[in-house]
Amino acid sequence: MSATFEVMNPATGSAVASIADNGAAEARAAAARAVAAFGTWRKTTAYERAATLRAWASAMMAEEAALGRTMTQEMGKPITEARGEVRYAVSFVEWYAEEAKRVYGTTVPSQFSHKRILVQPQPVGPAYAVTPWNFPAAMITRKAAPALAAGCTVVVKPAEQSPLTAVRLAELWTAVGGPPDVFQVLPASDPAAVSRVFFEDPAIRKLSFTGSTEIGVLLAGQAVKTMKRMSLELGGHAPFLVFGDADIDAAVKEVFASKFRNAGQTCVCANRIYVHADIHDRFVEKFAAATSGLKVGDPMDPATQVGPLVDAQGLAKVRAHVDDALSKGAKAVVGGGAGEGLIFKPTVLTSVKRGMRLLEEETFGPVAPIVPFTDDSDAVRQANDTPFGLAAYVWTRDLTRAFRVAEALDYGIVGVNDGIPSTAQAPFGGMKMSGVGREGGVWGIEEYLDMKYVSFGLGS
Ligand code: NAP
Repeated sequence: MSATFEVMNPATGSAVASIADNGAAEARAAAARAVAAFGTWRKTTAYERAATLRAWASAMMAEEAALGRTMTQEMGKPITEARGEVRYAVSFVEWYAEEAKRVYGTTVPSQFSHKRILVQPQPVGPAYAVTPWNFPAAMITRKAAPALAAGCTVVVKPAEQSPLTAVRLAELWTAVGGPPDVFQVLPASDPAAVSRVFFEDPAIRKLSFTGSTEIGVLLAGQAVKTMKRMSLELGGHAPFLVFGDADIDAAVKEVFASKFRNAGQTCVCANRIYVHADIHDRFVEKFAAATSGLKVGDPMDPATQVGPLVDAQGLAKVRAHVDDALSKGAKAVVGGGAGEGLIFKPTVLTSVKRGMRLLEEETFGPVAPIVPFTDDSDAVRQANDTPFGLAAYVWTRDLTRAFRVAEALDYGIVGVNDGIPSTAQAPFGGMKMSGVGREGGVWGIEEYLDMKYVSFGLGS
């Protein structure tokens, strides 16, 4: 293979590295290796797989600083957050190293005295994973750790913007004694050419995708032709509901954390902020003051809170959403435009109404549109008025309201007085157009297991 592609630093605009570009031929070879390796890996004991996963987790932790730097350089996440992502990524590997040993089967009572019913989980088979750039490490371990723990082999096609972290994870896997064909990473500048090989190969039994809804729907249509098991973690459009009884200072702090991390480029970032009309003005004032104080700039500086967006396309989308809202009557209380390079200034918008793009789709940037609501049913109606259903947030001191609203929200994840609910042992995933399947916890490993029913006849 001689082709390469360049990985760009969004903060400087210069190339960080040149990396081997994989095409269909390399994909075919990788798929064949993954299929052959599955024959052996599936036969290892859960204890052997757990030991390799634990060693992998330790190796990643030992490189927390270096992996964090690589991430920041390739996709612009502020360095303090990037190091946090390494710890988050490791938490999945640690959790599934333990869970490997708890993949229990079951026996079911039969109505016949001469029969025994056994249900045995077994690994679904070689898996193909496609991951996004916004969490270059965690979106890989959230898939690979449960898959490897279950006895599957995995080939990852990382995002074009962030392949360096992915390649380093594969190097660490082999450095700790993980069989190289069991976990492979295939950076590619033409994702469709590589993916087609895996979709057409009937021996690849699983597709796990994280990315936009548009691409998820496209890939699902291709993968279904070989009837692969599928997990799809797709786009979000998270509402954050702040009720009239809320502690405003605490709510501002949490909305702020949810909104501005990774410069607003996470699938669970608050994308729409609904505030009860009685406290709307006070909330806006405090939220705007906090937003004005954000430290924006060089993502390598540990004090930076908001860095550049990932690329010009990302910046153009954020700018288009804000321009559309301003042209339709929204007011920028803070920010409202681009800064230097790929920076978009942290922005707070009021007078936001239906029909503006940022209330209809994911903005994926540091933009906080604030919309008033009148009562609980109005809040729930506005929150659910979208085809997406990944994460939603509720801020209230009223326990009854918290329960009722959480139950009424059509979302896979609801944070009640919690702006950052994601954690390795809980199920992460969406409803409606935000996807199918769950990652994390016991639900995450079930995505890589098939249930085999064995019926024993014992004679008459
Ligand atoms: P994207 O454009 O959908 O890309 C995701 C992955 O799909 C990348 O690896 C990309 O490769 C690949 N891809 C694109 N077109 C393809 C094709 N025709 N065939 C095969 N693969 C293809 O999404 P993104 O911009 O990287 O990520 C942001 C999106 O991910 C947002 O919508 C966000 O909400 C979502 N997300 C969801 C979750 C979740 O858990 N639900 C978590 C994180 C992010 P290239 O990089 O080469 O284009």
